[in-house]
Amino acid sequence: MPKILIVGGGYAGFYTAWKLEKWLRKGEAEVTVVDPLPYMTYQPFLPEVAAGSIEPRHAVVSLRRHLKSTRVLAAKVTKIDHASKTATITPNAGEAWEESYDIIVVTAGAVSRTFPIPGVADNAIGLKTIEEATAIRDQILTNFDKAAVLPPGPERERLLTVVVVGGGFAGIEVFAELRSFASALLQKYPELSFEETHFHLIEAMGRIMPEVSLPTSHWVLKNLAERGAQVHLDTQLKSAVDGVIELSTGESFAAGTIIWTAGVMATPDVKNSDLPIEERGRLRVRADLRVEGDDGIVEGAWGCGDVAAVPDLTGGGVGGFCVPNAQHAVRQGKTLAKNLVATLRGEKVHDYFHKNLGAVAGLGLGIGVFQSGKIALKGLLAWFAHRGYHGLAMPSWERKLRVIWGWVNNFFLGRDIVSLEAREHPRVAFETFAARPRPAAPAAAPAPAAPAVEPAKKEPALVGAPASSPAPEATAAAAAPAAAAAAPAEGAEKPARAPRARAPRKTTPKSE
Ligand SMILES: Cc1cc2nc3c(=O)[nH]c(=O)nc-3n(C[C@H](O)[C@H](O)[C@H](O)COP(=O)(O)OP(=O)(O)OC[C@H]3O[C@@H](n4cnc5c(N)ncnc54)[C@H](O)[C@@H]3O)c2cc1C
Repeated sequence: MPKILIVGGGYAGFYTAWKLEKWLRKGEAEVTVVDPLPYMTYQPFLPEVAAGSIEPRHAVVSLRRHLKSTRVLAAKVTKIDHASKTATITPNAGEAWEESYDIIVVTAGAVSRTFPIPGVADNAIGLKTIEEATAIRDQILTNFDKAAVLPPGPERERLLTVVVVGGGFAGIEVFAELRSFASALLQKYPELSFEETHFHLIEAMGRIMPEVSLPTSHWVLKNLAERGAQVHLDTQLKSAVDGVIELSTGESFAAGTIIWTAGVMATPDVKNSDLPIEERGRLRVRADLRVEGDDGIVEGAWGCGDVAAVPDLTGGGVGGFCVPNAQHAVRQGKTLAKNLVATLRGEKVHDYFHKNLGAVAGLGLGIGVFQSGKIALKGLLAWFAHRGYHGLAMPSWERKLRVIWGWVNNFFLGRDIVSLEAREHPRVAFETFAARPRPAAPAAAPAPAAPAVEPAKKEPALVGAPASSPAPEATAAAAAPAAAAAAPAEGAEKPARAPRARAPRKTTPKSE
């Protein structure tokens, strides 16, 4: 039975495996999906997850639950040697091994693409994963809680300042959703005022959202301005050191949250392979989604989604290739599965061809934009289109219902506004009060020699210390578990770190 190895279980990988399960006959091939994450992330929902409109677990699709006959490995493919048809699988736990395959499907997606701007790597957060979206939601909520107990002033405003870098679709969506979230939160924080919340989006180009028409993008700018969210066009981020934003216009301000959404690049892991890679780091594939090198088709290798340079036969796309989006990834995954099954049966393969359906974006509760060709919708109608489209595009009814029920719940009950940021240090509460074994009694020491000088006065016992104070060695031993708790033990859950002393204005959003 031929062995098919799918590298990456995101949009393209999940749909490829899902459809292979549907179209392969029993015993026709054995399918394995490798992904360090045990779920496919519905990335268009990340802005709504960040804004508390969708619960994080509802926006991901469990591979094991929805792929019934596929072998799922929680691991990374760290090397592909296609000449010998082996892949190095590095699991999330345990030793790496070499896995042999007959057919490889590379669908490893993309990662945030950044530029070497000082402070960005240390202070910003991306928006490609569910973990990032959840952390943003918690950070906004935590910052509101912190700000509410501070006197009005710069530190309070810093905590309430959100910066998004990149005015593409993802950037504008998260920016607008967070503005809507913050405005709703203010109703529960009478200590804080609208004027103290600051939203800045930084875009290097002269316009936002290239996927919609210029008039539609102008409508979005106007709408954001009316809602107190400022877009800086033709502006570059120069520095984000210590969370202090410096712009090419000379403006400077401190921010409590910095979100980077200024582009993606093909997952660099694919470069560690002998498969053909083009100059932008993407896998070279033909329109039928088979990998192609200088000498023609690479037998037994396929690829699609954000990681691959798929020719766009409609004449659209950028540079003749499909743009990296879910619309393509889903359809390419289906086409790939169909073509792969066809090759196993000696049948004809078909080229991938998909005309862009348009774009739809949610911009906060009750506001959206939709553009398909010359047709544009704005406001409430477009927001319904956004929720309707994505609610139904979510794979499986089990997932659709969870998301849609969540929206209905929120409509009647409002969003959940509790930050669970403390889950990053889940053992603190337990560890603080955990009883520890009494230190072993020290071995009998030899009788001390008669003191030459008068002994120093005994220190008074600490309040609450045991009546018989331990010897110095025992004190050190008693301190050892606490010290050990500061260093992660192998196989143990990551222990809580002691809270760090911080300078009042220093900002590190990850730990805010
Ligand atoms: C905030 C946001 C909003 C978006 N909104 C829209 C939208 O409204 N409409 C739209 O069409 N598109 C949208 N997109 C784009 C869309 O989500 C992506 O284009 C799509 O997810 C690409 O699918 P993919 O399968 O190629 O990659 P992904 O879905 O990213 O999946 C790649 C998978 O590969 C895994 N992987 C990576 N490296 C390895 C490795 N070495 N070994 C094994 N596995 C690996 C990853 O863990 C991941 O699970 C949005 C994206 C973002 C970030």
